[in-house]
Amino acid sequence: MTPTRISFEKWFERQYASMELCFLCGKTLTKDNSTKEHIFPQWILNKFDLWDKSITLLNGIRYDYKRSIIPCCNVCNNEHLSKLESIIKNGVEKGYQFFKENVPLIAIYQWCQLIFYKWLYKETFFKENVKDPHSEKIVRKENFESMSLNHLLLRSIDKRIKFENFFPGSIFICHLKTGQNASDNFDYLDAVPEQCIMLRLGEIGIVVMLADSEIQKYVFADQYRVYLSNILAPIQLKNLFIQCMYRQHLFNDPYSFELKDITDDSLTISQIPKENFTGDVYTEWLHTDYAILLNQVFGGGMHNYLVEKGIPSFLFDKDGNFKDRAFDSDGTILPNE
Ligand SMILES: [Zn+2]
Repeated sequence: MTPTRISFEKWFERQYASMELCFLCGKTLTKDNSTKEHIFPQWILNKFDLWDKSITLLNGIRYDYKRSIIPCCNVCNNEHLSKLESIIKNGVEKGYQFFKENVPLIAIYQWCQLIFYKWLYKETFFKENVKDPHSEKIVRKENFESMSLNHLLLRSIDKRIKFENFFPGSIFICHLKTGQNASDNFDYLDAVPEQCIMLRLGEIGIVVMLADSEIQKYVFADQYRVYLSNILAPIQLKNLFIQCMYRQHLFNDPYSFELKDITDDSLTISQIPKENFTGDVYTEWLHTDYAILLNQVFGGGMHNYLVEKGIPSFLFDKDGNFKDRAFDSDGTILPNE
């Protein structure tokens, strides 16, 4: 094996549920280089007053934001990650218009992939059922191992990775209404199998499909335009997330990836059509399945979501005009009302 090849394989060094290695670069941690990386960075906890608040994990357990930390080396933490954080923080501080027009899409992508991956990493430590000593972890070993592409894409933070002929994910940035209390203006949702996340950061709403090569962004541009050209209430952003997530559930990825031009600290990723790919990129949208999903998330009864025409949503009134909903309308208000 050539030295470059050996070094390259180190890029992928990850250990399941380990406190011994840096979650990003895989370096062994010692008392001299070990730091703790917050899943939601400290500036988010300050800005949205989350230090005493908690998030609900996949196993239903509530977990304090302030205790949500993972192992990281000092170089990754203080150099690579803090550089990325300062780009995002500056953008968020300056508001929706600035964020949308000035923050590079690649930085937004890396930051969203980072939060998604950090949660997965954290969830390798927790049992699905905390009362059962034999319970599996929330994120099982095989699922963690299948996330190696996420990890490689994340390495674009500390290595020079060129995406040759594609961008890895669809990103939607929405303008949102805000409430009085700082903590009401933050929210995070993720869907692990579909690799989608939603973040609500004050007046900035972000929905990202982390692994769709921007297909949703282009194929459904007309359908999603209403979300991108109006000021949304939180429930409407959540509605976009659920719609994107269900679409992603139907996604058959037509691409695979080739790694080339590998050096010790750089590589190129090229997208190629899958040789054996046949059929549609999205399997058939089923209104009933989507209605079940909406009812699970928003409640109110199935019949409310089985509309005769189109896709039920929290966006329109009975006459089909955009519905200017109140900031706090969540859960109890029915779609197309
Ligand atoms: Zn590191």
